[in-house]
Amino acid sequence: MEPFDYIVVGAGSAGSILAGRLSADPQTRVLVLESGGSDASPWVSLPLGYGKLNTDPDRTWQFKTEPDPELGGRSGTWPRGRLVGGSGSINAMIYCRGLPGDFDDWERSGAKGWNWACVKNVFERLETRVSTSGQTSGDGPIHVQDVSDQVHRLNRHFRAAIDETGLPWSENLNGDKSEGGGVYQINTRNGRRCSSAKAFLYPALGRENLHLEKNAHVRRILFEGSKATGVELVNGRTFVARREVILAAGAIGSPQLLQSSGIGPGHLLQDLGIPVLRANDNVGGHLQDHLAATYTFVAREPTLNAVLRPFLGKARAALKYAFCARGPLALSINQCGGFVRSRPDLDQPDQQLYFNPISYKVTPHGERRRFELDPFNGFIICAQPARPTSRGRIDIQGADITVAPKISPNSLSTEEDRRAVIDGGRLCQKLMATKALSALVDQSVAPHLSELDDAGLLADFRARASTVYHPVSTCRMGASSETSVVDNRLKVHGVDGLRVVDASAFPNITSGNTNAPTMMLALKGADLILEDRKRHAS
Ligand SMILES: Cc1cc2nc3c(=O)[nH]c(=O)nc-3n(C[C@H](O)[C@H](O)[C@H](O)COP(=O)(O)OP(=O)(O)OC[C@H]3O[C@@H](n4cnc5c(N)ncnc54)[C@H](O)[C@@H]3O)c2cc1C
Repeated sequence: MEPFDYIVVGAGSAGSILAGRLSADPQTRVLVLESGGSDASPWVSLPLGYGKLNTDPDRTWQFKTEPDPELGGRSGTWPRGRLVGGSGSINAMIYCRGLPGDFDDWERSGAKGWNWACVKNVFERLETRVSTSGQTSGDGPIHVQDVSDQVHRLNRHFRAAIDETGLPWSENLNGDKSEGGGVYQINTRNGRRCSSAKAFLYPALGRENLHLEKNAHVRRILFEGSKATGVELVNGRTFVARREVILAAGAIGSPQLLQSSGIGPGHLLQDLGIPVLRANDNVGGHLQDHLAATYTFVAREPTLNAVLRPFLGKARAALKYAFCARGPLALSINQCGGFVRSRPDLDQPDQQLYFNPISYKVTPHGERRRFELDPFNGFIICAQPARPTSRGRIDIQGADITVAPKISPNSLSTEEDRRAVIDGGRLCQKLMATKALSALVDQSVAPHLSELDDAGLLADFRARASTVYHPVSTCRMGASSETSVVDNRLKVHGVDGLRVVDASAFPNITSGNTNAPTMMLALKGADLILEDRKRHAS
């Protein structure tokens, strides 16, 4: 197979798309190196298998953050997928493009050509949209399923509460009217997870010019002068790339690899004895993430807990799934929510809502953590500030790539973010005070949402909020190395033959869940790589 034209590091949400697209030309040899192993597991295919995967040490990295000062000095756990399909193989499958304003903001911050008008058709090429009746529109590889006919009955109270508060309702959170409460669409196909690995990578693996190497952990990028020429694995094996090395190792892995290879904050690299190829403080900087704290209630009517806790209920759900590929096992745990404004004077929605007809705890079991459903008819509500402005950092702690980097989220470090937390809490209170939801509640579980004032809401968030698993922007795209790591063609500033194409290249966090925009970025990234190749050849 050697030498390769392109080496893609990471077979996650972005890497799988690159692999599929770049290898479409039989003359182009592509190597994909993935640190983790296979995604062949029923828990990966089964949408509700999420509860198992999230804490599975064999299929995930379980990163720990530094104590976060504004979260009471708490350290958080950040799972990331470490298997074929990456985090896209273990995530909750909510499919949200994000809001148009998010991408206009990308362009404003220096990512020319990435505004909403430019990326909308890339999303459309990515997707086949599937209605409740099975009708399809579009012919993209990622199937986006409307599950509004399948979500639990309890969600009707959420819909009524949205109407009662005068907030809009969106029939399609990925449509032209994406603002409002709504039912989340999910990336499943016939009741199974439709990750980018399933949709792009596997169909291409039969090609002779595409090679996937699993359990291949890349230690560093190799350079000749300032041109990337290949990579070295932790076991010492090296691979040569004739054209480009493309990092798709995710928002933690990609900055870690750049820094380990001499591209990063000069003082940090010097202190660690790593020769500096290009000093750039933005590598590992600008880290953003979504945070949320959920409020749990006991309902007066059965929730999903009543279905999935008893043995008989589980057996019924399993049979329904086995015979019809429908029912609770075919869905995400996140069913309703949407994008809303906590105050009417805002330009665009500032909160993402979640209303889940299920409640659970994550408890330690020896070395592992386990999801356990509450022994009552629980449901949860929460609001997640959609566009946090706080920025943290990820930095390596030594030259050894197998040592986890230092993750400093720096959450709630801006007044704006603290205000958004209070606004989100107030919005949840308003929703829970509606006739529709107050009549549903038998009792609230501590901390009691209705009793919290502004200071109480913020204090509670500091004490309990955790990641929604959306780290981005640690190799952000922008106009120059003064403010960013890659240019608008995703090429690393100051070197040749090297790009970063994954969630780390987001200029800023989008309002919703980050998988769909990551896949969009990878599809457009593949277009740019192929365009550049053509230009070179002519
Ligand atoms: C628990 C969880 C739930 C989530 N839920 C949702 C959701 O419901 N909806 C949504 O939109 N988003 C969700 N997300 C976020 C979404 O999945 C990610 O934003 C997206 O998958 C990021 O894609 P990526 O390609 O940047 O990184 P990843 O998909 O994480 O891929 C990176 C890949 O690189 C590999 N890698 C890393 N370092 C190296 C190295 N040195 N050598 C070789 N390989 C390496 C990793 O093993 C991994 O496979 C969730 C994430 C998690 C973790």
